[in-house]
Amino acid sequence: MTEQTLPAVCDTLIRNGYLITMDAERTVYACGAVAVSGNAIVAVGRDADIAARFLPRRVIDAKGGVIHPGFIDCHCHANIHLSRGIIPDQPASQPAPFSFSDWTNHLEDEDEYIQTQIVGLEMLRHGYTFFLEPGTVYEPDAAAAAAESVGVRAGLADPYLWDVSDGPNSRPSTTRRIPNDSKRAFKILSGQLTRNKDPDALVRGHVALYGVGYSSEDLMRAAKDCADAHGVTCTTHHNFDQDDAKSNDERFGGGHNMVYFAQRGLLGSNCLYVHMNVIRDDEIPVILDSGMSLVWHPGNSIYYNINSSFKPRIPELIERGCNVVFGVDAAKIWTFGDLELIGYLDARQHGHYISTARIMEMRTLNAARAVGLSDMIGSIESGKRADIVIRSTDVPEVLPGVNPIQELLLSGHRATVSTVLVDGRLVFLDGRSTQVDQNAVVAAGRAMARRVLDRAGYIPRLPWNVIS
Ligand SMILES: [Zn+2]
Repeated sequence: MTEQTLPAVCDTLIRNGYLITMDAERTVYACGAVAVSGNAIVAVGRDADIAARFLPRRVIDAKGGVIHPGFIDCHCHANIHLSRGIIPDQPASQPAPFSFSDWTNHLEDEDEYIQTQIVGLEMLRHGYTFFLEPGTVYEPDAAAAAAESVGVRAGLADPYLWDVSDGPNSRPSTTRRIPNDSKRAFKILSGQLTRNKDPDALVRGHVALYGVGYSSEDLMRAAKDCADAHGVTCTTHHNFDQDDAKSNDERFGGGHNMVYFAQRGLLGSNCLYVHMNVIRDDEIPVILDSGMSLVWHPGNSIYYNINSSFKPRIPELIERGCNVVFGVDAAKIWTFGDLELIGYLDARQHGHYISTARIMEMRTLNAARAVGLSDMIGSIESGKRADIVIRSTDVPEVLPGVNPIQELLLSGHRATVSTVLVDGRLVFLDGRSTQVDQNAVVAAGRAMARRVLDRAGYIPRLPWNVIS
């Protein structure tokens, strides 16, 4: 054996899996392997070839299961995650007996920490390794510490950047902790970007506005310029429903917003607009031309019955090549991975079809592009960070095992994750966190929700009497 052919040492060798790489050719290895050194992937290929090239310190046997890149959630409000089941599930009940602002107004830093740990564990259980928080966690340092403790990646922004208070949604004006303050918004716009000075940081910074409805054009421009200068994503909520669209159109000159924003140079490939349930004909070409990304939340649009009287346009935009991705948002009645199934069905309901292959791209490569991290994550390729998920195929939900991509995205998306590496570190093994005491974190989450309810003086109504 010559020196050139001696096996190289690597930290981890993942072997014997149905390997979905999501590389440019969408290569899939029926029996593949991935070599990892430090936080990076160093080789990918057929199991026999890779095993012959490396002397691993640790071998992980995928046992014929599916190996895929860590999924990326592009819009997750970590600090309202445990309000689900508490916020009434009848959206039309007015006034709501308990709202999101009732929840957030009673949060302390520790509550944000615990909820973010729960988010992290829940992500890993469903094959997610990154979430983008859209600037609504009051104390980003608490969320960052929690994400790091569980070992997931996160993108954070400074909270509640707004300088206009006349939006149709009353939530921001009832958020007590951060009042609407123009000076503050401009001053702290780039606050979280200091995290990006460390190229190996697990938690990174981006720029987020709370919403177009709460932002002046000056603030939108400052946010876009800041994101451009620092090479990061700029995200904002926009046009949740027709009331939003009407109000926002009026605020920006009467035409349709996206046309106006394009003319004003406010759109670009680093823009990530969230919801966009209302899109008009003349907005379609400017959205496509801008190269921007959209977070589609079909769960919300169905939950709030938003598209009952007009046609949703996002499925059409997906077909026309727009970079559309998913985010769990406030986890009202769903968790990580559910939105893709809901989106698939919502598209069918409106006469469109989104293939499971496309959905796989939306969760990985396309999502990485939307959050500005294409060079780091989103595929299993040499040089990328080792964010790798292994799923068992020894469960009934993924049978018959003929089309693993469809099986794991639709029927088997929940209960199948066994092992996860993030940044080369084994953070989840045999369905359990290796970083934190999972039972203790779950117990802390339960206790934390009770504390918030006690502070708020709210007792959720349950469907039947409970005898204690
Ligand atoms: Zn949101």
